[in-house]
Amino acid sequence: MSDAKFVYSFGGGTADGKSEMKNLLGGKGANLAEMASLGIPVPPGYTLTTEVCTYFYDHDRTYPATLEAEADAAMAKVEEIMGTKFGDPTDPLLMSVRSGARSSMPGMMETVLNVGLCSSTIPGLIAKTGNPRFVYDAYRRLIMMYSDVVMEKAAGIEPEEGQGIRQQLDRMLEEVKEKGGYASDADISAEDLEKLAEGFKAKVKGVLGKDFPDDPREQLWGGTGAVFCSWNGERAVSYRRIEGIPDEWGTAINVQAMVFGNMGDDSATGVAFTRNPATGENKFYGEWLANAQGEDVVAGIRTPNPLNEDTKNDQNEHLPSLQVAMPEIYEQLFAIRNQLEDHYTDMQDIEFTIQDGRLWMLQTRVGKRTGTAALNMAMDMLSEGLIDKQTAVLRVKPEQLDELLHPIVDPAAEASADLIAKGLPAGPGGAVGQIVFSADDAVKWAKEGKTVLLVREETNPEDVEGMRASVGILTARGGMTRHAALVCRGWGKCCIVGAGTLDIDVIGKKIEVDGKVFSEGDVLTLNGTRGLVFAGELSMIDATENPRFVDFMKFADEIRVLKVRTNAETPDDARTAIDFGAEGIGLFRTEHMFYGTGSEEPLFLLRKMIMSGSESERRAALDELYPFVKRDMKATLDVMGERPVTIRLLDPPLHEFVPQSADERSKLAEALGIDAAELDRRAEELHEMNPMMGHRGVRLGVTFPEITEMQIRAILEAAVELRQDSKACFPEIMVPVTGMKAELEDQLAIAKKIHAEVCSKYGVDDVEHLYGTMIEIPRACLTADEIAETVEFFSFGTNDLTQMTFGFSRDDIGGFLPDYLDKTILPVDPFQVLDRDSVGVLVATAIDKGRSTRPDLKIGICGEHGGEPNSVEFCHMVGMDYVSCSPYRVPVARLAAAHAQINHPRT
Ligand code: ADP
Ligand code: MG
Ligand code: MG
Repeated sequence: MSDAKFVYSFGGGTADGKSEMKNLLGGKGANLAEMASLGIPVPPGYTLTTEVCTYFYDHDRTYPATLEAEADAAMAKVEEIMGTKFGDPTDPLLMSVRSGARSSMPGMMETVLNVGLCSSTIPGLIAKTGNPRFVYDAYRRLIMMYSDVVMEKAAGIEPEEGQGIRQQLDRMLEEVKEKGGYASDADISAEDLEKLAEGFKAKVKGVLGKDFPDDPREQLWGGTGAVFCSWNGERAVSYRRIEGIPDEWGTAINVQAMVFGNMGDDSATGVAFTRNPATGENKFYGEWLANAQGEDVVAGIRTPNPLNEDTKNDQNEHLPSLQVAMPEIYEQLFAIRNQLEDHYTDMQDIEFTIQDGRLWMLQTRVGKRTGTAALNMAMDMLSEGLIDKQTAVLRVKPEQLDELLHPIVDPAAEASADLIAKGLPAGPGGAVGQIVFSADDAVKWAKEGKTVLLVREETNPEDVEGMRASVGILTARGGMTRHAALVCRGWGKCCIVGAGTLDIDVIGKKIEVDGKVFSEGDVLTLNGTRGLVFAGELSMIDATENPRFVDFMKFADEIRVLKVRTNAETPDDARTAIDFGAEGIGLFRTEHMFYGTGSEEPLFLLRKMIMSGSESERRAALDELYPFVKRDMKATLDVMGERPVTIRLLDPPLHEFVPQSADERSKLAEALGIDAAELDRRAEELHEMNPMMGHRGVRLGVTFPEITEMQIRAILEAAVELRQDSKACFPEIMVPVTGMKAELEDQLAIAKKIHAEVCSKYGVDDVEHLYGTMIEIPRACLTADEIAETVEFFSFGTNDLTQMTFGFSRDDIGGFLPDYLDKTILPVDPFQVLDRDSVGVLVATAIDKGRSTRPDLKIGICGEHGGEPNSVEFCHMVGMDYVSCSPYRVPVARLAAAHAQINHPRT
């Protein structure tokens, strides 16, 4: 430990770190170092590494022994560059203490600005700047942030709703503004600010029972500890759960010389994106505020000004742009924008501050963007020559496609709809839902199965769970760089911010606009792509075929080696899936013809078969059912043409189909020529204690060979008939729920017998097909070498395999899974993301063993995992031939497969 380096300096044109060191320095620290090395003006500072955070949590919230000395040495370098000293009464240096994790967590952790202001340094700073207003403004901000972050949150104090110290101080600030007739924070006089700061300190003492620390060093280390603590703050933890960021990562801390955007009208602060994060348009896009400090823009204290003339909108068009107000600074910023894009070859999200006409960069990071923007930027940057094809393909996350394929509000419906407000288009797509006014209500209503829109004056990081639970978010305040917008863009969630005409009353739970009132539970429609809010429910349409999307997916298809099939049972679903790029059907569930519309007649016949008392009765019922089964299989095989179709033989326990209602039971009894009592007796016989592990799948075929016969005959006859009509088709017969080779041999004998019968009936030598099995029982994985001697393909049914591996009932997991996730006993739901450590080992074992006895064994997956990017990557890595997923997930799987090939090349 003794030679470990815990502190990395940056500034003055050099840096110890660089952008690749995000794991150690956090994203913010690594990029501050990188910018400093690039010669971009960055206030000097130093980074305490993420290892310090790990140490802090492992050692009862203390620091490594060498840390303080290292930090002091780094501070000395900052002092040298700045020519001022931290804590110096005549010329004090002030610092910020900033959080910064490996992967950005916007607004989820804490930052304390203006550290080092106290009774001994205030007079010196006033004398030096000649600007008491600025000094007291900085001071009151320090007290607010410090008391909130260090003295309350980090101390574990949980105040009543609305009684947090920050809110109490905010109310004092509002009072001063009201009394003094000040329109905005920036107008408050120096005298009033000074009085306010004194009032703040008294309030802090009164509420928290402790003095606000009057010593720079105490402030510095108090801030440091609190920022580390904020890694485990409620918001940060819930954000990590949602984003899947590991708790062990920890945050780094950046201690950095303050630059001041609040020194007067030649000072300002702002945030910007190098391109438009909502649409991807190649325009510099951002917001700024004169005479303000960092947080003001993001927090929405005042409506920020537009960055340039090009990107003005309804909310800010009356305000001067930076381009007009400070043309030289704007030019310099624009040059840095270009430099950063060239250097990082990606869209950057930046923070800057202007102090007395001098520009400083405070942050750069890869900017979050909507799926639409990701696609457009990738394609633009490819044609600009900034990135290559592979990089372009990697720039869109598979999950973002969801959003590109997401429904939008039907423009035709919009034309005649009741438009109630306009805001900024902060998150894409359309959303219809019932309005709620708090994050808690959003979570509660969503749990009850309702579709909700979260309506807030503006969102803050505390709302993150509720935002997640809502289908759309609507705020009256806020801008494109504000919290709600940032978070929603990251998620690809429909969001409108800054709909300023809405009068939102979160206590009374209503919105008033133009004399109309909308209360909790009323339905609104949001068009997040254009920022339009409508009363009532409008219809949605699928996002139209976007030619750029088609091109992009072509690139992905060129790269991937894993094929993508779909799970489908009807010609309609099959066609949809083909449109989405499916290359076959990986799972056709025979039993689906007995559910839903048009299923009445076949279902009745199936029930008759199930309730039969003897083989001859059963065969008679199967003969009646046969034409329906063949018809359905043939229709889907026909649509799929030359693409393979894996048809799974009947899987569920028969008891599932036994009718419950007396009426249906008596009809059935009549058809079978038995009385009601006899029918009830037969139904009772079918009842099982644990049907999931009961008489189902191949077990049905073993005890009732005639059921297998009927299905295989339907498949093979459908295939011959299509081929005799000169149509291509490739059926694959799949036997489910197998664990033993002997089961498959038993069924194979039936398949061979039927094949011979079909051949002679139609006068052909062969009906081409494959014979294979679903692998969903651990025993099958462990004996896959034997099984592969009998079958030509495996398809992993990882839903059941996960169920059997974990011993978790798929249908009852809701009772305990949330607690497992909360307590991080499980990192994710294993039914959503394939568990590589257990199910993955079984799958890999089965593949190795299977191919050891049959090298050309065809292998795929047909569980829910087949459409989940992380699981698709795994399937690629273990050498499967294809994945299969629901039609709408097909593009996601195609892109995930391309990413997998880029990241883990396979020949
Ligand atoms: P977050 O990760 O929540 O954005 P930051 O550490 O970036 O937190 O800081 C919050 C705000 O404070 C930002 O607007 C940032 O620009 C501003 N800020 C941070 N450090 C300084 C500094 N040294 N000088 C001026 N402003 C700063
Ligand atoms: Mg920031
Ligand atoms: Mg199964």
